[in-house]
Amino acid sequence: MSSETTPTTADLRDAIRNVPDFPKPGIQFKDITPLLADPRLFRECIDRIVEGIPVGSVDLVAGIDARGFLFASAAALRLGAGIVPVRKKGKLPFATIEQSYSLEYGTNTLAMHVDAIRPGQRILLVDDVLATGGTAKATVNLIERLKGDLVGIVFVIELGFLGGRAGLAGKPVRSLICYP
Ligand code: AMP
Repeated sequence: MSSETTPTTADLRDAIRNVPDFPKPGIQFKDITPLLADPRLFRECIDRIVEGIPVGSVDLVAGIDARGFLFASAAALRLGAGIVPVRKKGKLPFATIEQSYSLEYGTNTLAMHVDAIRPGQRILLVDDVLATGGTAKATVNLIERLKGDLVGIVFVIELGFLGGRAGLAGKPVRSLICYP
């Protein structure tokens, strides 16, 4: 990869490390830490996340605990938006709404503060990986319960073979790197 040119999708893909059998046997974990450690690649990711989204057209970027925060906060700065942390149960200090879901490995409950979103606020949802789609679907549910207007969902990585997109049918979903 030249230091002059804009990184390609192949460059981004090459910076994602496949870790077999983590956190459980049979799961191939997509480790984004090499990508995060390279400023050109990280910036390219953020450029692609916000591509086509006008500054000021989103009120809040919702990021999912924990790797989603890394991308959501940078995207929010670009878009002139605030951030909503979607957190694992028990981490938020104020009153919350919660949603449970199945994960590719295990189960989880996500929470948002009850006042995280005002009705009609325009929300962009960002996460690192779309696997089975349970995490994103639960988050969409939380956003809709608070009457947010979901304007887009962007994943850095989509594991297409797990079919997670099906659970988000009708939603404006985009991914930067797809493993079909
Ligand atoms: P899912 O609910 O199955 O779509 O899982 C998505 C969430 O789990 C994301 O927040 C990811 O951070 C994480 N995740 C699931 N599968 C993987 C994987 N193979 N590699 C890395 N992260 C994963």
